[in-house]
Amino acid sequence: MDPIDRRRFIASAAGTAALSALDLAQAAEPAQAAASAGPILLATWPHGKPANEKAAEVMAAGGSLLDAVEKGINVVEDDPKIQSVGYGGLPNVDGEVELDAGIMSGTTHRIGAVVNLHQIKNPISVARKVMEKTRHSTMAGEGALRFALAEGFTPMQLLTPQSLQAWLDWKNDPHHVTYWLDAEHHDTIGMIANDGRGHLVAGCSTSGIAWKIPGRVADSPLVGSGYYADDHAGAASATGDGDAMQCYVTSFQIVMLMAQGRTPQQACEECLRYMATTSPATRTIQACVIAMNPRGDVGAASMNAKYPLQYALWRNGKSEILDAKPVL
Ligand code: ASP
Repeated sequence: MDPIDRRRFIASAAGTAALSALDLAQAAEPAQAAASAGPILLATWPHGKPANEKAAEVMAAGGSLLDAVEKGINVVEDDPKIQSVGYGGLPNVDGEVELDAGIMSGTTHRIGAVVNLHQIKNPISVARKVMEKTRHSTMAGEGALRFALAEGFTPMQLLTPQSLQAWLDWKNDPHHVTYWLDAEHHDTIGMIANDGRGHLVAGCSTSGIAWKIPGRVADSPLVGSGYYADDHAGAASATGDGDAMQCYVTSFQIVMLMAQGRTPQQACEECLRYMATTSPATRTIQACVIAMNPRGDVGAASMNAKYPLQYALWRNGKSEILDAKPVL
């Protein structure tokens, strides 16, 4: 590579990621969290608040970071009022609820993920089983369901009367938008937990966009897109238009920016600005990210003010909902 190409490469996000990988490989030990921090829990959207509170409870009772993230996310998956995650999630175009989830340990660099899972209300728990009971990382569709059943998960109807009615209303509306080329009605629970000693776990769970084409795979269950964790650099999670966001592998990009020395806030903003600059069509989409470094500093950003992000933070016993900064 000549010097000019090299400079351009370094200035690019891909170059940043590659260099960060080299720096990380040379790092001997994970960065330590601030000494007195205790657990720090960060999650997307106001529904992240009860998830954080559950996770804090799990950790106070001696549970692991993986327990905290799994049980925290379960609270949102179990809540039928949240129509974008787990039980009661809005279905695909055929009226079937298809769930996606993934979890990653920043200590072991292992992940577990499930994609297009039907009939099981807690995909994050199935994802964790994939990580801990198999040498696989991601399982999809029919195979993921069979695995879940073999692991003792109970199949059930995931449509509630409310989500069924929402689908019928959409289907019977002669002017309904197909959503093949549009994306509305979605959200996700993305969560990051730090034990206060610099160990990180990230997880994500969603029913994806409403009325999606069966078989669609968005960013949430894809490692590096919906979630990523590395004790040497930080963790991140994404929510928003997953068809667009997966093209930028947002969570991995943010973690690599933190590895380069950016604060979590700088990394979140830089990632979204890079998207907006290199793909101007993304300026108007919903694209939101959260991040935390091993010290427990946090960041959050949304692409624009049209789709603002509220996120939940639990630290030192204080549980709150905060507004993220729009970058445009
Ligand atoms: N990213 C999710 C998806 O596209 C939805 C969301 O987070 O709002 O399926």
